[in-house]
Amino acid sequence: MTTVLTGGCQCGAVRYALDQQPENVHVCHCRMCQKAVAGPFAVICPVMKPALRITRGQMAYFHSSNVARRGFCRDCGTPLTFDYPEGDDVGVLVGTLDEPDRAPPVVQYGNESRVSWYGILNALPGNAPTYENDPAMLHRISSTNHQHPDHDTPHWTPHPGAQRA
Ligand SMILES: [Zn+2]
Ligand SMILES: [Zn+2]
Repeated sequence: MTTVLTGGCQCGAVRYALDQQPENVHVCHCRMCQKAVAGPFAVICPVMKPALRITRGQMAYFHSSNVARRGFCRDCGTPLTFDYPEGDDVGVLVGTLDEPDRAPPVVQYGNESRVSWYGILNALPGNAPTYENDPAMLHRISSTNHQHPDHDTPHWTPHPGAQRA
């Protein structure tokens, strides 16, 4: 097995490896994906099911219909996957990859639900890095960062903030 990509949830309780480069990476604007990722669209990276190896922890599932389910971290709530249990492939959500740049989308689905402001996103004014005008806030965040780093770690104890209430 050759690990091509790695990723995981925000708290680090669930980590995974992909043994295959995703194919037909797609933006999905459907209403279910909007809700499932709490954003205007999902970006889904399909791989064959045996190519997704959970390397730490365990996913929980919400069955969004009788034919589809969505994997997530029970501790921090990060959405991780979408799949049809009867299907051969599973879609990993691009934002959970350690290197999302390595899985660019090639097609869009669910366009009937696409938010009307999707087209203007690239033209919006913005800044980088976030909080560049507020170094104190940037320090407060970075010095207490409980997000798992963007690489595998031999040991990781999720912050108590990630534990179930
Ligand atoms: Zn988590
Ligand atoms: Zn969708």
